[in-house]
Amino acid sequence: MSQRPIYLDAHATTPVDERVLNAMLPYFTEHFGNPSTNTHLYGWEASAAVKNARETIANIINATPEEIVFTSGATEANNLAIKGVAEAYFDRGKHIITVATEHRAVLNPCQYLETLGFEVTYLPVLPDGLLDLQKLTAAIREDTILVSVMAANNEIGVLQPLAAIGEICHSQGILFHTDAAQAIAKIPLDVAGMKIDLMSLTAHKIYGPKGVGALYVRRRDPRVKIAPQLQGGGQERGRRSGTLYTPQIVGFAKAITIGVAEMQWESKRLLQLKQQLWSMFESLDGVYLNGNLTTSLQGNLNISIEGVDGSALLLALQSVVAVSSGSACAATSTAPSHVLTALGREEKLARASLRFGIGRFNTPEEIAIVGKQAIAAIKSLRQANQS
Ligand SMILES: *Cc1c(COP(=O)(O)O)cnc(C)c1O
Repeated sequence: MSQRPIYLDAHATTPVDERVLNAMLPYFTEHFGNPSTNTHLYGWEASAAVKNARETIANIINATPEEIVFTSGATEANNLAIKGVAEAYFDRGKHIITVATEHRAVLNPCQYLETLGFEVTYLPVLPDGLLDLQKLTAAIREDTILVSVMAANNEIGVLQPLAAIGEICHSQGILFHTDAAQAIAKIPLDVAGMKIDLMSLTAHKIYGPKGVGALYVRRRDPRVKIAPQLQGGGQERGRRSGTLYTPQIVGFAKAITIGVAEMQWESKRLLQLKQQLWSMFESLDGVYLNGNLTTSLQGNLNISIEGVDGSALLLALQSVVAVSSGSACAATSTAPSHVLTALGREEKLARASLRFGIGRFNTPEEIAIVGKQAIAAIKSLRQANQS
């Protein structure tokens, strides 16, 4: 077997850190109890582990433990936030504001709500991906109940100004939800300081296991109501029924703890790797940065390349590096990325894009190999197109 490609797709998912795995293992076997059982030791052990994890996660985002609702990931957290608020507040208004560059796990629940009679405003973004706050203010109506703006974009890494958005929403009495799947443990997040009312999290983008996440739901100033989207045993104070998955939850808390503890130096290291890669591409003509280098996730680099076919480029690189194109479905997708077109990229350039997600286990040597091979592939595809 030849070597496996270098993994540079950290926005899609990440490997489980061994420290996380080791924390999880005892909860699959020895300590396998149901956290809701209160009649014997097995249940108490599991319940204590979940309690600990809940406190850890709450502390990190400056929340209280009762404000954390465990879910299967950020998709479920987004659905619970958006549909849960819509259902709980529809008598106050039926208008929701979100942004054109959001993840499908926000856009699709919003589109679903439109079929039920809600009205949704999809705000445009500036050419570098940032939200224009004046447009947000102008879009607010009497009947607006919720604003949903992601913390960090999963394609172009752009970081939205959460505190400013929270301020605008709270001054108007509107709830503010943020999808922080890509941001947690990578940038500081403080639900009190940033006036966030609901926040979606997931573990598998931060070296934790797949299948677990959380929704933060504010309990004071204001006390946010959400209608449950899963009914059953009444776990999570009735907000999300279903037996809690202790190993996943323990792993999630461990992953966040490690990410936050290492955030400062790791973000510097990732930024250096990004600059290393970008400086290689910058030496070529016709390579454009999507998003911006300053207000973005350190590990994200998204470029559009003139004069090549996007899927041909991915094909040429697939044995070297695991990356995505700008669009979620990569090589097989026929539609260009909705994020890149929202930036104003013409269709051809939106299709010919590469999204690099640099992560914890990548090295400068790997970046050098990928940069060199990608540039060689671009040059040869351009030459083939000319002849
Ligand atoms: C990955 C991702 C999601 C989906 O999270 P899951 O935990 O896989 O359901 C939602 N939003 C953003 C921004 C993401 O990057």
